[in-house]
Amino acid sequence: EFLYHFAALAKMEQTFIMIKPDGVQRNLVGEIIGRFEKKGFTLKGLKLITVDSDFAERHYADLSAKPFFNGLVEYIVSGPVVAMVWEGKNVVATGRKIIGATNPAESAPGTIRGDYAVDIGRNVIHGSDAVESARKEIALWFPEGIAEWRSSAHHWIYE
Ligand code: UDP
Ligand code: MG
Repeated sequence: EFLYHFAALAKMEQTFIMIKPDGVQRNLVGEIIGRFEKKGFTLKGLKLITVDSDFAERHYADLSAKPFFNGLVEYIVSGPVVAMVWEGKNVVATGRKIIGATNPAESAPGTIRGDYAVDIGRNVIHGSDAVESARKEIALWFPEGIAEWRSSAHHWIYE
């Protein structure tokens, strides 16, 4: 039984989720947090923060050669964002499913982008695309560290 729980814990991941300035301006913060919360994931970090272009460029460094890069940076610095860390089994991939395809024209209804966005350059939310990028993004956005706690609902969510 101990080994079984140890294996389950070993699969725990953390992901970086950011509600972009349009999501904040459009009052979608509660709705978006609610979706991750109700799914069963655990909130480990949360702050409302306005970043500058230097910071946004670091977050999106991998996309610096893309034609939309400057517009993307302008978008991210245009107002406060909600930066979060969510924890759970497979949370990186499942978080991306909850968010939906990058282009809201292709995001399925029921996903955040499918339900709340129209244009690719105003797609409401960011989520890490891999465990390794999540680790980097969490370190960038939460240099102060994140909360250490375990939900008392844990055994109602994990078998
Ligand atoms: N983006 C854009 N135009 C494009 C592709 C991407 O404005 O043609 C923006 C969009 O906001 C997207 C972000 O750049 O969310 C990062 O792009 P990525 O390919 O990493 O998509 P994501 O991981 O956010 O789904
Ligand atoms: Mg991405």
